[in-house]
Amino acid sequence: TWANVPQGPPDAILGITEAFKKDSHPKKINLGVGAYRDDAGKPYVLPSVRTAEQKVVDARLDKEYAGITGVPSFVSSAIKLAYADSLDPSRVSATQSISGTGALRIGGAFLQRFYPGVKTVYIPNPSWANHTAVFSDSGLKVEKYRYYNKETIGLDFEGMVEDIKNMPKGSIVLLHACAHNPTGVDPTQEQWRAISDAVKEGGHFPFFDMAYQGFASGDTDRDAFALRHFIKEGHNPCLAQSFAKNMGLYGERVGAFSIVTASPEEAARVASQVKILVRPLYSNPPVHGARVASAILGDAQLNAQWLAEVKAMADRIIDMRKLLKLNLERLGSRRDWSHITSQIGMFAYTGLGPEQMELLAKEHSVYATKDGRISVAGITTGNVQRLAEAIHAVTG
Ligand code: PMP
Repeated sequence: TWANVPQGPPDAILGITEAFKKDSHPKKINLGVGAYRDDAGKPYVLPSVRTAEQKVVDARLDKEYAGITGVPSFVSSAIKLAYADSLDPSRVSATQSISGTGALRIGGAFLQRFYPGVKTVYIPNPSWANHTAVFSDSGLKVEKYRYYNKETIGLDFEGMVEDIKNMPKGSIVLLHACAHNPTGVDPTQEQWRAISDAVKEGGHFPFFDMAYQGFASGDTDRDAFALRHFIKEGHNPCLAQSFAKNMGLYGERVGAFSIVTASPEEAARVASQVKILVRPLYSNPPVHGARVASAILGDAQLNAQWLAEVKAMADRIIDMRKLLKLNLERLGSRRDWSHITSQIGMFAYTGLGPEQMELLAKEHSVYATKDGRISVAGITTGNVQRLAEAIHAVTG
């Protein structure tokens, strides 16, 4: 029956993990995975999450199905976290989702079915690898806009704005709300203002992907600047939220998808169609992780504790950026490594090419993606010097 099914290519990131596992070097380093590690290189469960989880268990809740749109207290708290006071929440149609990926997929499916404009979504070049797959599998056309400038290892701001202005009127523009993956390069607030103007000028539809709220700067409000600014400017965007990174709830698959509408009446119609879309996809979402997130967001004390823990994670990453740069300079590297500390979020785009990345793996047992992206979360005070030596050896 399946004689005609061709062998598909392996997932690029999972392939790295496999190569890493096979390597017997005692000081091998894996900078491929996009998950936070503590300074001992170990996965980290936030203490606020442990406490919230215990509260959920102690409440001895039943395991009945949630509604199609999930755990209501979670959804309303997630919306508040993202939008704060930038709008009246009755204008927002929102649903719990299978983390950020599921939110993007609901958005893709909804736009494919109902968006009245051009059903092409423009994503930054480069973008999170799964964006193309999620949106094209949703039946949307996927194109790219300029984002990263190889020469400056920074934002190609002029190129980005020019491309947004040149898109067919009424296109869909996907924007990383903060901590752009894979480059770690974010627009400044000033640049966001100009991007908002360009999106408005083109009559385009902004789709925000916010997978790292709080994880970039350590401040959930600051990281939501772009989203809230767009709303202030009169845009009615949609939003994919993930709690994988900022709560470390990766495998619990906690997220939300929301659409800002013109009125509560419009929100109700949109919500009815989102339900019709979700029902045959997965019927309703899992409840445990959403209950945990809700317990944190809904309790002032736990919420404050969580915010401090998010900030500690963000700060550790910022410290590792500084330490990597410092070590490279100490080794006498004549390259300019300032982008390592100016970039933000979980990843650093080193500017290393595929051959150098291959040398890093083969000769130094340092594993990361071929595009030169390293997960700064995988750097520790214990491995940073060896990492700098390896990078210096392949770039010196
Ligand atoms: N968007 C971006 C930009 C991401 O980096 C990620 C996580 N790697 C996601 C969405 C979604 O992740 P998840 O489905 O685990 O929430």
